Amino acid sequence: MSLKNHYYYDEETCEFIPIEYKRREQIVYNLAIWILNGVVLAGLGIIILSTKIGTPAELALEAENRALYEQLESTRSSIIDLDSKLRQIAELDNEMYRSILGMEPIPYDEREAGAGGTDPYEHFDIYNESTSALLRWTAENLDNLERQIGIQSLSFEELKNQYNNNSEAMRHIPAIKPTSGIMLSGFGMRYHPILGYNRPHNGLDFRADIGAPVYATADGVIKTASRQGTLGRIVLIDHGYGYETLYAHLSAYEDGIRAGTEVKRGQQIGKAGDSGLSEGPHLHYEIRFNGRYVDPKFYLFADTSPEEYLLFKEIAETNTKSF
Ligand SMILES: [Zn+2]
Repeated sequence: MSLKNHYYYDEETCEFIPIEYKRREQIVYNLAIWILNGVVLAGLGIIILSTKIGTPAELALEAENRALYEQLESTRSSIIDLDSKLRQIAELDNEMYRSILGMEPIPYDEREAGAGGTDPYEHFDIYNESTSALLRWTAENLDNLERQIGIQSLSFEELKNQYNNNSEAMRHIPAIKPTSGIMLSGFGMRYHPILGYNRPHNGLDFRADIGAPVYATADGVIKTASRQGTLGRIVLIDHGYGYETLYAHLSAYEDGIRAGTEVKRGQQIGKAGDSGLSEGPHLHYEIRFNGRYVDPKFYLFADTSPEEYLLFKEIAETNTKSF
């Protein structure tokens, strides 16, 4: 910027007169212009930076927000996972433990009932829609989990008391697997591969090679140990308290296993085989309660983990063939 181009207007002479600066004034003037430009440019820069990119403090907050949101999302999937595990335990509790110990199942809607009343999560509504929804969901589901765990603990406490108060009877209720093999086929209507049509399958089939040990599933007295038509060699045990168990297609009996023999839960009573009408070696196992067939998968609780129980349940529901 040259100073030579600067004039002032003289009102008396009505003409523009070039301004004569002294050297020192020129320097000060130039400097002032440069500083002013610098300040304006810097200001503009800051404005642009802060609106488009954000200040360092804002950037840090944004990163923190993102991290918190990601953590909330991962908490959410943990909650879903925990919820489904708890649901499995509740199923086991209702269908197996409570049913066998003669207690009423706890309805699922009661186990999962919300708190009701006023909305306890209203305070999340001040945030934007997606954040508020995620916070609400997390808080609500954590509260539900807490409630369900409380109900489940109470139920287990009840079961323990029921068991301790009836321990003599408990030894007479079938509670273990009759052989170590995996379950092959479940209870209910099944296609019979040899007969070639559907008929009720009154028990469970377990994989068992010829000679595999077969165990009494509860304390009792042998009622029958003989050949019985299509079931082949069987053992029928009377456990008292309304329970009887039957083990079929055996290849041999253990020494001393005959009508009238007392047996204990877990005692070996015979060897698996394929006697009678059987597609191959396996153990057919039945439980009768007060003269009626019941589903033995509910009576495996003493040595069956929740995972195994769910696997049995799946096999029972998907395998449509008996052996
Ligand atoms: Zn069978």
